[in-house]
Amino acid sequence: MRLKQIKLAGFKSFVDPTKVPFEQQMTAIVGPNGCGKSNIIDAVRWVLGESSAKNLRGDAMTDVIFNGAASRKPVGQASVELLFENTMGRLQGSMADRSEVSIKRSVNRDSTNSYFLNGSKCRRKDITDIFLGTGLGPRSYAIIEQGTISRLIESKPQELRVFIEEAAGISKYKERRRDTENR
Ligand code: ATP
Ligand code: MG
Repeated sequence: MRLKQIKLAGFKSFVDPTKVPFEQQMTAIVGPNGCGKSNIIDAVRWVLGESSAKNLRGDAMTDVIFNGAASRKPVGQASVELLFENTMGRLQGSMADRSEVSIKRSVNRDSTNSYFLNGSKCRRKDITDIFLGTGLGPRSYAIIEQGTISRLIESKPQELRVFIEEAAGISKYKERRRDTENR
């Protein structure tokens, strides 16, 4: 599984539609302070289903929408799309036999969120489900930010267990059991 491209529009500082392609050799995004590097990571976490504004460095979920600048008016919608190569079939469920998987999320000023899987409207859960057990998720260890390591070291046993269960690939079975029990 490999992230091939990120597309952003109206998301934080990326007001104009922006494509960030990840070629095989690409390993880093560099730039001066405030140019939007962390906003790209926020975008990845957001499209994977993050539902806490604080974890996206904002106060409200609509803070991810471009809020205007000296020469630009605010916009009404933010959207982010991730394109994955799924040649090893790591993405599961309905996407298991797809060689390319696109996931997209958009939000409007009235807080309505929409999610899309390969262009078709879906639920947030449809997106979080296909990533279970892959190590990638809105709060997974695939994204290591400033402070993540110390948080891991200082975490309570119950929190540490969540990381270990995801790494061991058993979190998806726990999720399925929870689903079944709630039916
Ligand atoms: P550093 O090197 O300091 O970590 P960075 O490249 O990670 O910088 P970001 O934190 O990604 O920078 O970007 C911060 C910029 O994004 C700020 O200029 C901020 O005003 C802008 N920004 C954040 N949210 C919005 C928004 N909703 N609308 C417009 N601009 C935004
Ligand atoms: Mg930063």
